[in-house]
Amino acid sequence: MFFKIRELELKPKRFEVAYAPGEVDLLDPELQQVGPLSAQGVAEFLDSVSEIHVQGDFHILVKTPCDRCLEPAGEEIRQKFDLYYRPLEELEGGVEVGLKAADSDVGFYEGEGISLRDILREQVLLALPVQRLCRKDCKGLCPICGVSLNEQSCSCVSPVVESRWEALKSFKLS
Ligand SMILES: [Zn+2]
Ligand SMILES: [Zn+2]
Repeated sequence: MFFKIRELELKPKRFEVAYAPGEVDLLDPELQQVGPLSAQGVAEFLDSVSEIHVQGDFHILVKTPCDRCLEPAGEEIRQKFDLYYRPLEELEGGVEVGLKAADSDVGFYEGEGISLRDILREQVLLALPVQRLCRKDCKGLCPICGVSLNEQSCSCVSPVVESRWEALKSFKLS
């Protein structure tokens, strides 16, 4: 779906979509979308400031390898959005845009309008947690023997601890 300014000028546009996996490129090959990416809301054009205002909510379920143990970790995101898009020409033309900290939800559109897929891609990527874990207390893999410490323990000595000992020893000697 594409929000054309010329259409929004006539009346706000309501949307209710469900994109199958792959229809919105999430850019990260490790992110696997499970089921549809659904969204609903309304887009309108604010004449006085030439801004496109889009608000609504979306829902997505993704799978991604756990940062620690590499087992698949599921992440379900249901989130509201309330976004303003200004014409990109305003930025390129060197006009004082005056972005305030509170304006972090302001983006830019180019040309005739903006695509809903682009908006959703950005919202999904922003909503994903920085650290992706299968569970909060995931113990990860042993860096030496590689066993999953969630399932079993091993008797390896952590190399981090070892190198600290080395540093300590050489410190004492010098
Ligand atoms: Zn894990
Ligand atoms: Zn080990």
